[in-house]
Amino acid sequence: MTTPRMPGARIGVIGGGQLGRMLALEARRMGCRICILDPDPQCPAGQVADDQVVAAYADLEAARELARRTDVVTCEFENVDAAAVAAAESLRPVYPGSRVLRIAQHRVREKETLARMGFPVPAFHPVQTPADLETGLRRVGLPAVLKMATGGYDGKGQVLIRTAADAHRAYEALSPKSEMLILEQYVQFSKELSVVCARDVRGSIACYPLVENIHRNGILDVTIAPARVPGEVATAARNLVSAITEQLDVVGVLTVELFLIGDGRLLVNEVAPRPHNSGHYTLDACATSQFEQLLRIVCHLPLGAPELLTPAVMVNLLGDIWEQTGGQPDFKPVLAEAGIKLHLYGKAVAHPARKMGHMCAMAPTVEVVMERALAARKRITGV
Ligand code: AMP
Repeated sequence: MTTPRMPGARIGVIGGGQLGRMLALEARRMGCRICILDPDPQCPAGQVADDQVVAAYADLEAARELARRTDVVTCEFENVDAAAVAAAESLRPVYPGSRVLRIAQHRVREKETLARMGFPVPAFHPVQTPADLETGLRRVGLPAVLKMATGGYDGKGQVLIRTAADAHRAYEALSPKSEMLILEQYVQFSKELSVVCARDVRGSIACYPLVENIHRNGILDVTIAPARVPGEVATAARNLVSAITEQLDVVGVLTVELFLIGDGRLLVNEVAPRPHNSGHYTLDACATSQFEQLLRIVCHLPLGAPELLTPAVMVNLLGDIWEQTGGQPDFKPVLAEAGIKLHLYGKAVAHPARKMGHMCAMAPTVEVVMERALAARKRITGV
């Protein structure tokens, strides 16, 4: 069961976005072959992969074809069709398996599972009917957030609620789009944090450092590694995330998003059983990237060291910048700087909020790297 699959292992990936692309690039460096399942022949991962099955994610025969062409299968997003994962799983091992995907795909299942396991989550209530909404408002209180249980991402499919009237309007808007909703307490957090944690088939764990995330319009904007928090908070967060990864029996990479609240407590916002945007800094700043770690796991190789080699700040580059600059932004002033890496995802069309690439700045201290990263963005956008 744990025979190593290197070199030349053939790895199937469901999904062809930027996470699949960065995984494919690391795979090529390590001598593995990558096959992508994605409907778009020009998708970011397909451009750099060895092979692609061009089909919808929910096409069961395509999922089986991906499995037949490869030795092992993984996913680069969690909203992958459960039946397609099961189809691939009938032929090849899939990491992470369908069990953890089912939990992460559904916000109610996710929160109920974490709460049952004793992990701290914001107060929540599942909502399917107007009566559930009333009960939820009494239990959770205001302000609150009403979210679609399935299908929402990057802040889409969720509405901030300050009054009972807001709640009813939000219910009318969201309930036709998702068979279940979740009402969550609005957390007055002091920081948003996350940890990427890797676990292999033998149960060994490698936890990346705690990082700090700043969101804009519900989308990750900046990640600061390491997080600017007391050492006890960083230790508590890594212990919490390791315990969640173990309890969920994840084989692969799990990212846990956390809220830090005023009294130093941590609450779990969500889990994603895959490499994550807040772990992109690991490509340039850690001994082993989150993508290499996933490859090592699916190939049954030893985990790599997750150590942060230098403070780093990752800045997302959204399509808005392409719009502001009337086409291709001028990256020359940024590339002339020492200590900044540019990553572009090969997306032909830029539209607002679309993740087109990111920059990773590195420097000996968090203060200097923060200044360097924000100055670099200013040079591109003028903002
Ligand atoms: P999500 O897709 O659930 O991660 O939500 C996207 C962003 O919305 C989060 O990163 C937070 O900034 C914000 N958010 C989500 N849920 C809550 C909550 N219960 N309380 C406060 N802010 C939230």
